[in-house]
Amino acid sequence: MAENIRIEVVTPEHEIVNEDARIVMAPGSLGEFGVLVGHTPFMTSLKTGVVCYDDAGGNEQFICVSGGFAEALPDKITILAEAAEKCEDIDVQRATAAKERAEKRLADKGNDAIDFARARIALERAINRINTAGSN
Ligand code: ATP
Repeated sequence: MAENIRIEVVTPEHEIVNEDARIVMAPGSLGEFGVLVGHTPFMTSLKTGVVCYDDAGGNEQFICVSGGFAEALPDKITILAEAAEKCEDIDVQRATAAKERAEKRLADKGNDAIDFARARIALERAINRINTAGSN
């Protein structure tokens, strides 16, 4: 049996990753999970968080994902993310600006025009990007 599992990370805009991995960890909605080649098939939704895997050369890779779904098959895991960035591609200045914008909106309690749920999600995405960028 092959030693590696294929990892594919796609968004509506791009294919972010398509390569072999030894082990893949991902932020499932019900908790963090890990898959190796030969895993029983399953599907799950994902939280905003980090997908982490060891590539075929043994180097750890980190991908920031903003929610989505994962389908694990014995030889492949496909991650369909709403948005995803390799940690080295994250623009920290942009994420910091998004974080400040969201924090300002959340602090504006008396303003009925503000969609607080949307601001909280934007804040979560921005914090996840800032944290993931510091992973390598
Ligand atoms: P912003 O307010 O800065 O646009 P956002 O959370 O609204 O952030 P998304 O809608 O999640 O952005 O993503 C839109 C596109 O921009 C996606 O392709 C995503 O990968 C990319 N993107 C968003 N923020 C960053 C970032 N800080 N660094 C690199 N790419 C980013």
